[in-house]
Amino acid sequence: MTFQELGLKTELLRALNESGYTQPTPIQQQAIPPALKGDDILAGAQTGTGKTAGFTLPLLQRLSTKTLNCGRQQRRPVRALVITPTRELAAQVAESVNTYGKHLSLRSAVIFGGVGINPQISILRRGIDILVATPGRLLDHVEQKNIDLSQVEILVLDEADRMLDMGFIHDIKRILKLLPIKRQNLLFSATFSNEIKTLADGLLNTPTLIEVARRNTAAERVAQTIYRVDQKRKRAILSFLINSKNWRQVLVFTRTKHGANRLAVQLEKDGIKCAAIHGNKSQGARTKALADFKAGSVRVLVATDIAARGLDIDQLPHVVNFELPNVPEDYVHRIGRTGRAGFAGEAISLVCDDETKLLLAIERVLCKRLPQKTLDGFEPLPENRNETRHNVHHPRSNKKLSRGHRTNASNQPARKPNAGPMDKSAKSNRQPVNAKISR
Ligand code: AMP
Repeated sequence: MTFQELGLKTELLRALNESGYTQPTPIQQQAIPPALKGDDILAGAQTGTGKTAGFTLPLLQRLSTKTLNCGRQQRRPVRALVITPTRELAAQVAESVNTYGKHLSLRSAVIFGGVGINPQISILRRGIDILVATPGRLLDHVEQKNIDLSQVEILVLDEADRMLDMGFIHDIKRILKLLPIKRQNLLFSATFSNEIKTLADGLLNTPTLIEVARRNTAAERVAQTIYRVDQKRKRAILSFLINSKNWRQVLVFTRTKHGANRLAVQLEKDGIKCAAIHGNKSQGARTKALADFKAGSVRVLVATDIAARGLDIDQLPHVVNFELPNVPEDYVHRIGRTGRAGFAGEAISLVCDDETKLLLAIERVLCKRLPQKTLDGFEPLPENRNETRHNVHHPRSNKKLSRGHRTNASNQPARKPNAGPMDKSAKSNRQPVNAKISR
């Protein structure tokens, strides 16, 4: 099947051709025809499936085919509104709108928090057809009366499950009240919880249902390896892997913002060009880090889970979990950054003894065991294993426990003696296995 056969107009076909896309992905094949007809859509698709073009292309075509008669003095009303959970995703969707719409004369803008509001106000005042926005900043503009949403013809909710996860449901409901009743609605979500179904029921009008990827398919697509290592040597191991395997583009996850900063500094000291992105970085710094990483001038991007949500990096080959996430589902999101749009990807996790429980929780979510290896020259040392254990679990009774555990550790390298069956809380959705660490 070709893009032409999907019914797209010449200007869009030209832009697609220039982007190097020759074949529509499955989500595009299924979403574009009904969206072009004006149907509502409920689509189950993860990032990496090509979903952005799946809604952007029909949206552009519909708006460009039916032009509005607004007088010269009148401001162009917003005709399509795309809401995303994160700033990064908003920026990426806006980039796609620009890329695919470059031969059309539609105006688009992106607004999100963390950057000055005034430049956004002047852009909105000039009038735009397509607005990509995160919920909070959109409502700020609504409150300041910078924007009128009463003429929206097409609404897209992108990554709706993330929006609910991040607590945006009330914002979404407030935004929906500002839209005209008659409009086209496209809802994209990676997962279908009861909350999403309720949202979809209230929003969509006899939608076309599309599901292209089962949940957790990244787990099947991406080659995953666990390296058993000592906590203390993780940084040295990461530098060794990057250099010895000559990785040029690696996304590394840490659990905390401080951890991300510290690791970035250490890798720089090892001579590896590196940048960190997390919630304490300004939007400008995050955008620059991502741009440098995409351009290849930064080799390693160290990120926390929240900061990495929605990151779209074409053909990202390697993801490293420097630390395992507390929430097992975050592991799936992390490794889903690689192996996208049909390219092979590799995810490596550096796991120390203290993380065994987290690993078991992840394996339970994946319903499979992950292959474990040790690196020659970096095998975990029994002494380190003991130290970590008593530090964490028995800080006051060093000597006695240390001796007892040492014997045990050398016999049972892979599992803590006190790591019982997995904490039940890990089974329920998005419950941390350990105490929550601020991300
Ligand atoms: P998305 O799921 O929208 O985040 O897209 C994932 C990646 O696939 C992006 O980097 C897109 O640029 C890329 N992509 C989108 N459509 C196609 C296509 N038809 N062929 C190849 N790559 C595509």
